[in-house]
Amino acid sequence: VLDVPNGTRVILDGAAGTLRMNVTEAEVTAIRERQERARQRRAAELLVAGEPALTTDDHRVIVVANIGGVADVRAAIPNGSEGVGLLRSEFVFLGRTSAPSEDEQVEIYREIASSLAPGQPLVIRTLDVGGDKPLPYLPLPREENPFLGMRGIRVGLERPELLRSQLRAILRAADAGAHLHVMFPMVATMEDWRRAKGVFEEERARLGADPIPVGIMMEVPSVAVMAQQFAAEVDFFSVGTNDLTQYTLAMDRGHPTLAPHVDALNPAVLGLIAQAVMAAHGAGKWLGVCGGVASDPQAVPILVGLGVDELSVSIPSIPAVKAQIRALSMKDCRELASRALTQDSAAAVRALVPYNQD
Ligand code: PEP
Ligand code: MG
Repeated sequence: VLDVPNGTRVILDGAAGTLRMNVTEAEVTAIRERQERARQRRAAELLVAGEPALTTDDHRVIVVANIGGVADVRAAIPNGSEGVGLLRSEFVFLGRTSAPSEDEQVEIYREIASSLAPGQPLVIRTLDVGGDKPLPYLPLPREENPFLGMRGIRVGLERPELLRSQLRAILRAADAGAHLHVMFPMVATMEDWRRAKGVFEEERARLGADPIPVGIMMEVPSVAVMAQQFAAEVDFFSVGTNDLTQYTLAMDRGHPTLAPHVDALNPAVLGLIAQAVMAAHGAGKWLGVCGGVASDPQAVPILVGLGVDELSVSIPSIPAVKAQIRALSMKDCRELASRALTQDSAAAVRALVPYNQD
């Protein structure tokens, strides 16, 4: 794109992921009309965004927001969010020269929790740094393969003072309105989970706090494969398809050449989600999806058909995802999902769900 002369008229289609050049007047007119139709559709979807997302055969899917800051939660509510499925807590720790105090954190989590309706879920993911996301005040050695190294809960377990103060802050904010949940990122083994849960229980006992649900991100394939064993102990799962896809396909999610192939609708990834849903439900636990694919209109009917209980999506996508679910039947979604699982590529899965941009 750097070779395109300045001032060239192009059409950037965010939904299709294309950049078109040599654009004709007729194409520009067609695009403007599409933009206007999209604007009208969004306005209509927003009007009913506060209603639940029930399929035509009355199956409810919870639609919640992914947020990364205090202001986000205020934007999520008018968009129809039923809570927060993923609070990426990195914003509390990044862009500063020393770690936030426990009290500072309590204030931030309380502010978010009190902005939600009482009882709505607020899933706070513990700090997910390391690897490619350095923290200046937490020096970690340079690594050959950062995505396979000290990341997420591995950092929290290696340097537990940050994890402990964050868990205490979350527990202290648990009376602020929303129903707080703790979620650990990058869990790969049962040992990771048990050690992290152990730290949580120690801090909870010290504070004399009531229990709150504790779950894990499912973003390493080993967790999906062993979902039955994990389901016996965790309170919930949230599938991080961004990482689950990169680790399943062994393709760096930010790789410039490979990125187009890092598609969570690859049947290998869908198969992992399918077996995880069965394991979770078998143990009476819920499973959500909080990776980017949960906001993808081609993925929504498949995820619903696989039995995913909750979709945690980007804030602007909430009204559209809810509207889409209301037009679907669970019966059709189940059929679609089982066909998707037998395809041989992500492209073949996508071909089952033609995406009408109008
Ligand atoms: C994911 O991996 O899908 C996810 C939601 O976490 P993040 O994108 O923050 O790694
Ligand atoms: Mg992730």
